[in-house]
Amino acid sequence: MKPQGREPRARTADLVEEMGQVDFIFSDKTGTLTANEMRFAECAVGRLVFSSFLQDPLGGPVGGVQEVCEILSQPAHPQHEAVLWFFTCLSVCHTVQAEEKDGSVQYSGPSPDEVALVKGACKAGIVFKARRVDKDQQRAEVIVSGAPGRPDRTFSILSVIEFTAERKRMSVICEVDGQIHCITKGADIVMSPLLVSPLAQTEEQQLLSFSQKGLRTLVVASVQVDALAFASWQSNWLAAMMSMDRRMQLMDECAAAIERNLELIGITAVEDRLQDGVPETVAKVKSAGIRLWVLTGDKTETAVDIAYSCNLFTDKDTLAFVTGSSSSSAASESLRNAQKVLEGTEGGGIVLDGQSIKFILEDSVAADQLFELGLRSRSCVCSRLSPSQKRKLIELVRLRSPKAVTLAIGDGANDVPMILGAHVGIGIRGKEGSQAVQASDVAISQFRHLLPLLLCHGRRAYRRIATFLCYYLYKNVALAWGDVIWAHQDNFSGDVAYPEWLSTSFNAIFTSWPVLVVLAFDQDIPDVAANANPQIYQEGVRRDWFNRKLFGMWMVAAAWHGSVAWVVPNLSFGNTAYETVDFWRASTTSFTIVINVISLKLFIHSFSRSRATSWAPVVGSILVYIAVLFLLGYVSLGRRMQPNLSDGGNPPVPGWIFSNAAPLVQILLVPVIAVLPDIACLTWVRRLSPSPLFRVDRKVVSDNEILM
Ligand code: ADP
Ligand code: MG
Repeated sequence: MKPQGREPRARTADLVEEMGQVDFIFSDKTGTLTANEMRFAECAVGRLVFSSFLQDPLGGPVGGVQEVCEILSQPAHPQHEAVLWFFTCLSVCHTVQAEEKDGSVQYSGPSPDEVALVKGACKAGIVFKARRVDKDQQRAEVIVSGAPGRPDRTFSILSVIEFTAERKRMSVICEVDGQIHCITKGADIVMSPLLVSPLAQTEEQQLLSFSQKGLRTLVVASVQVDALAFASWQSNWLAAMMSMDRRMQLMDECAAAIERNLELIGITAVEDRLQDGVPETVAKVKSAGIRLWVLTGDKTETAVDIAYSCNLFTDKDTLAFVTGSSSSSAASESLRNAQKVLEGTEGGGIVLDGQSIKFILEDSVAADQLFELGLRSRSCVCSRLSPSQKRKLIELVRLRSPKAVTLAIGDGANDVPMILGAHVGIGIRGKEGSQAVQASDVAISQFRHLLPLLLCHGRRAYRRIATFLCYYLYKNVALAWGDVIWAHQDNFSGDVAYPEWLSTSFNAIFTSWPVLVVLAFDQDIPDVAANANPQIYQEGVRRDWFNRKLFGMWMVAAAWHGSVAWVVPNLSFGNTAYETVDFWRASTTSFTIVINVISLKLFIHSFSRSRATSWAPVVGSILVYIAVLFLLGYVSLGRRMQPNLSDGGNPPVPGWIFSNAAPLVQILLVPVIAVLPDIACLTWVRRLSPSPLFRVDRKVVSDNEILM
C-alpha cells in the first residue's frame, strides 16, 4: 500500500468557498475528537471492580492487574472461574490478528477497542497467542494461554457474527473442550435485552460510573449452545449469507436467533484519550459562530464526559436532556421541556440519544422542534446513533435551513453516510480504514487541522470568490452604462457606444485575468492572526461578503463609474452625431476611463496592495489595453478590423487621446475622482466602523509597524 502522507489533501476543489461559510459542523467522536488509541482501563466481573489497569505515571504496581492475577492464581477463590472465563472471552471474542515479532506477540485489527481488550487480558495473564487454521477440519482456531499452571487452550472458531455500527455488537461462536459457546460483546443498550435477566442495578451503576469517567464500555456475555441446535442454526446462517435478495435481513434474523438468553460475564471500560489540541479547536470553532454537533455511536454519559473535556460543554452551560423517550409524543414533550430549560440561558447545550432521535425523525413536528432547539444552542451531543441516523440529522438541518452550510467530519466507515450527506465532507486518516477518506472532499490527519482549513483557507476563499463575483458583474455593468446612456442619446437606434473590438476584448483580453491574479494571491491577515482570532470567521457565517446590500453597493458603484466615464468625455468633446471622428474620440476616451476606473477599483479592494501580485496585474492590464488600442489604430490589420479608430481624423484616435491635454487629463483624473466615494466607503468600513477582520488587520499592521 502506498504510504499515506500526513499533510491535508483536497479531493475536490469546488467547495472551498463553502468552507468559509459553515453554519453547522457534525463531528464523530471516536477517532475524530479522540485519538482512537484505546487502552484497557477498568473492568467489572460480578460485584468485583478491577480499576487502574493503566500504568501509573510513577511506574508502580498496577492495582487492578495485581488483584486479577491473585484471583487467577487461586483456583479455590469463589470468583476464580468467573474472572478466568471473563478474560478468556476477551481473548477469544474478536477479529484481532496476532503476529510473533522479536519474541513478543503483536496485535493488530480493524477495531482498536478489540486490540485494547486483548492486551488487557494479556496483562491479566490470559494471552491470545495465535490464530491458525486447522487444515483437517478447515476451521480457524484461537490459542489462548491458560490460567497459571494450566495448559494452553485451543478454541475452534465455528462462526463469527461481525460487528456493525447498526448492530453495535459482535459474536464469536466457538468450541472448546467439546462445548459450544456463543460469546457476545457490545453496547449496553443492545446487550441488555439479549440477557437472560436484564442488567441489575449494580451493573447499571458500574456502567454509569465507568462512562461518567469518559471510558468506552462494553458488556460481555455468553451462552452455551447445544450441538444439534448449533448445527441447524449454522445451516440457516450459511443460507442467509448466500441469499441474494434479503441477505442483511436474514443474517440479522439468524444472529438474533443465537444471540439470546445470554448470561452476563462482565463489563469492560476502555480509555480513549483526546487528540492533541481538540479542546482549543472546539473552543475556537464555537467562537467562530459555528454550531458543533457531536454524533456518536457511543454511550450518552461517555459522550457527555468527552464533550466536557473537549470544551464543547463548559461548567457554565445549562444542559437540556432529551433521552430515553419511548414514543414520538414523549420525545416531543422532552423537546418542549428542553426548550424551557434553555430559555433565557446563554450557551446551553443539548444531549439527545438515538432512541429519542428515532422517534423525532419519524414525526415532522418533533423534527421542527429539534431544529429550533438546535438553533438555540451552539453545542449538541447525540449518542447511540446508527450511521443512517447520523445522516438523517444532517438532512433534517439541510431541509429546514436550505441556506445553511453543513460540514461533516469523521474517520470511520460508520461516518461515510454523514460525510456524503453534508455540503463539505472531511475525512480523518485514522485507524479505522480508508472509507471515510475515500468518501470525503478533504482529508486531514488530526481534528485540530480543521481550524486552519476553516479560518484560513475557507474564510479567505469565501471572501475571494464573493469579491470575484461582485467585481466581475460590476465591471461588465459599468461598461454597459455607456451603452445605456448612449441608447437614450441616440433615440434607441441600436448603434453601439464603444468600438466593437474594444468591447469584444474587454473581458477576453483586458479585465478578466487581472481579477483572477489579484484575488488568487490576495492575502488579508496572516494565518497566525486568523487562527488566533476565530471571531473573524463570523463574516462567512453572516455572509458578509456576498449579500443583497453589498451587491447593491457594487451595482451603484458600477452605475456611477460607468455613467461618469461616458458622460464627461461625451459632454466635453463628443458629438451626438454617430460615426463622426469626435464621437469615436469621446467614446474611446470613455472606454479608457472605464478600464482605468475598474482597475483602480480592483486595486483598492485588494488587501495586499503593496505586493506586486496586487498592483502588477492592474498596471499590466492597462498597458495591454494601450497596446491593443494602438495596434487597432496604427497597424494595417488593426485598421481594417476597427476602421473608426483611424478613419477621418489625423492622428488616429489613440494618438489623439495621448497627445492632447483634455483627454489625457480626463483618463487620469476622472477615474480617481470616480473612485473617491468608494475610497470613502472603504475607509469608513475599514477604519471608522471596522468589522472583526479589519480590526485584526489594523492590529497586525500596527504591530508590524512597532516591530519595524
Ligand atoms: P463511534 O461513533 O463512537 O465511533 P461506533 O459506531 O464505532 O461508535 O460504535 C458504537 C458502539 O458499538 C460503541 O460505543 C460500542 O459500544 C460498540 N462497539 C464498538 N466496537 C465494537 C466491537 N468491536 N465489538 C462490539 N461492540 C463494539
Ligand atoms: Mg469514529
